[in-house]
Amino acid sequence: MLPSERKIYLKETLERLIGSFEPSGKCEATIIERVVCDGYVRERVELSAVSGLSFAAYVLIPDGYEQTTIPAVLAVHGHGYGSREIVGLNFDGTVDENPPGIHQHFALQLVKRGLLVIAPDIVGFGERLLEGDLTEDGLAPSSCYKMSTQLLMLGKTLTGLRVMESRLVLDYLASRPEVDAERLGIMGFSGGGLISYITAALDERLKAVVLTGFTSTFKESIIAVDHCICNHIPDILLYAELPEWIGLIAPRALFLESGEHDPIFPKQGFLQSVEDIRKIYEAENAANQLSSDLFPGVHEISGRYSYDWLAETMI
Ligand SMILES: [Zn+2]
Repeated sequence: MLPSERKIYLKETLERLIGSFEPSGKCEATIIERVVCDGYVRERVELSAVSGLSFAAYVLIPDGYEQTTIPAVLAVHGHGYGSREIVGLNFDGTVDENPPGIHQHFALQLVKRGLLVIAPDIVGFGERLLEGDLTEDGLAPSSCYKMSTQLLMLGKTLTGLRVMESRLVLDYLASRPEVDAERLGIMGFSGGGLISYITAALDERLKAVVLTGFTSTFKESIIAVDHCICNHIPDILLYAELPEWIGLIAPRALFLESGEHDPIFPKQGFLQSVEDIRKIYEAENAANQLSSDLFPGVHEISGRYSYDWLAETMI
């Protein structure tokens, strides 16, 4: 099989392995809140990708775009309390005055650089927990276990649902009047990195991708370390190791970031994966489209190079 044929084959396989969901059609959006903030406007919109399953997202619109359309980024959070965690809010919607946690309020970092950002609530976290998993403080870990196991019995995966919703969010993003639909990007952390790489592998509209706290090999991370069940996709290891799946994004712009002391995505897996992905980019004459940063830190976002890289790549 030629490399180009294998790539098509793997993309089709990936789409099949994560399971399909019937989309509700047009991604209807209702704006439910609009707040003027320092340097940007924050909207809360309600979207629906699957019939009967609506969800909210924050849209951060930088000041000063009026002259032209601007590039836009889909920001995908990992395990935690949802979209509020990356836009500088507490779970109850009040402003988070404390130092940011491992998500580093990264959506704010991107809007400050002139990018329009959409941060959807990922199903299974925060206000999208199943009723039985809710706790009074809203800090229950996730509904990944219940959702994943039930979907697996139907031949589907929670990742498949999350990716499908992400693609519908891209439809909505591309339809917004401020957005240049030819310049869409994605940045995801940890479990959000999983959703981001698969969304980008399957959706060519994404021109620039940042994966942080995720890149590894299955051998060094998902197999070697206990991970949430939402990381497990049936049969995926029969076809390719993780670097080759991530390499489906080539030749589009890709930045890989990881903490040197990340205990769940260990350094050796990151370095091996970057090396393997680099070979894929070189084979497609696109080595200059791949960048990486192993920063001093743990399982967290750094952004020391990746925020500027994303802004410079897209603007
Ligand atoms: Zn999970």
